Amino acid sequence: MSATAALPKVFRNALLVTQDPQRRVLRGDLAVEGGRITHVGPGAPAVGEEVDASGFAIVPGFVNTHNHVAMTLLRGLADDRDLGGFLEVLFAVDAKRTDSDLEAGAAAGIAEMLLSGTTTFLDLYYGADAIARAVERLGIRGYLGWAVLDPELTTQKGRPLDNARGFIDRWRGHERVVPLVAPQGVYVCNAETWLGARDLAHEKGTLVHYHLSETRREVHEHEAKTGRRPPLWLDEIGFLGPGQVAAHGVWLTRREVETLANKGVAVAHCPSSNLKLATGGVAPVVDLRAAGVVVGLGTDSVASNNSLSMLREMHVAGLLQKHHRWDAGALPAQALLDLATIDGARALGVADRLGSLEVGKRADLSMFRLDHPTLLPARPEAIVSHLAYSASEEAVDAVYVDGEAVVRHRALVREPWAKISGEAEAAAATLWAAARR
Ligand SMILES: [Zn+2]
Repeated sequence: MSATAALPKVFRNALLVTQDPQRRVLRGDLAVEGGRITHVGPGAPAVGEEVDASGFAIVPGFVNTHNHVAMTLLRGLADDRDLGGFLEVLFAVDAKRTDSDLEAGAAAGIAEMLLSGTTTFLDLYYGADAIARAVERLGIRGYLGWAVLDPELTTQKGRPLDNARGFIDRWRGHERVVPLVAPQGVYVCNAETWLGARDLAHEKGTLVHYHLSETRREVHEHEAKTGRRPPLWLDEIGFLGPGQVAAHGVWLTRREVETLANKGVAVAHCPSSNLKLATGGVAPVVDLRAAGVVVGLGTDSVASNNSLSMLREMHVAGLLQKHHRWDAGALPAQALLDLATIDGARALGVADRLGSLEVGKRADLSMFRLDHPTLLPARPEAIVSHLAYSASEEAVDAVYVDGEAVVRHRALVREPWAKISGEAEAAAATLWAAARR
């Protein structure tokens, strides 16, 4: 799409929250050419457009490592139920969805993400072509997993693994869409499905994304059925390996933490969703990180969060670990920002391209207004704390992907919100009517 060909530009005199290996925060310039960062620090030579960034903090775009963005139309539909009751309501609606309402929901969710500083997300859903179209329309970076489950349990037309293969073939090589395969979880996937997903990912060179050990019930039922808890069973059948992102990982033993570390599996931590669905346990994020597991942060869908804001997610993640561990030093602000940026990029295997402001990386970034009340006092030594604990989505003024402005002065650049929300509200009206019947 030619609209993505961003002009060279220099953001002048910004507060740069680099997230580089030294985690430097500095006053300086950030230059972008060909969608790539070419200078970070004082004294960038002029290359084209000059942007006065003196009133802003420039922050790497957030990486949301677990979402079901097409469910954005279902916000508020299944509140205040545990996962079992929640899925009962949602599965009934899911079966009635059409390509056009999937796209309308995805577009609304992508708009919400962009407006809160997220530039990359990892998704798990079926009908992902519609989601991919919404990604291309609005200019976010979408890692889109096609949901697979056992053929006899799905409402998809055809075998889910074949559908995933077709989706990957259709979307490989697209600029902002990265297709992958996504087994839903042990409760709907047998060994054959898991290994089929693994083989497909190896064959096509894609990631694998899945739910893992989200609830105690899932763990106990799987143990009753197979004699093994989910991660150890997945290891025993030969599934676990690098290039995988497991969402939740709430109910994990020490041995399972070690297993995930040894196998190079990354975990997407989704604290708001876990808390709201009363998962009961707390994901051992501190232990996972200590064991060497890469942990990213995910919002999960708005049906269980009910927000797609990574700012809110950092805040909740920090508070949850501190409270649970009786340790106010657990997951400090810097670690929270790491989860939301560079570690999310590591989970996706693209830390060489995304997740920090460094020369050579893609220019995916947000500009936060330093004069916003939630960033006061706007001192450089407090900016990481503000991002982790207090910053409002309203402080996000502009967002760039590949150096292209996708949000400017809190408005989407490629399509007006009125169009996106109009289509989403119309689609939601139909879906909600169906849900009540
Ligand atoms: Zn999920």
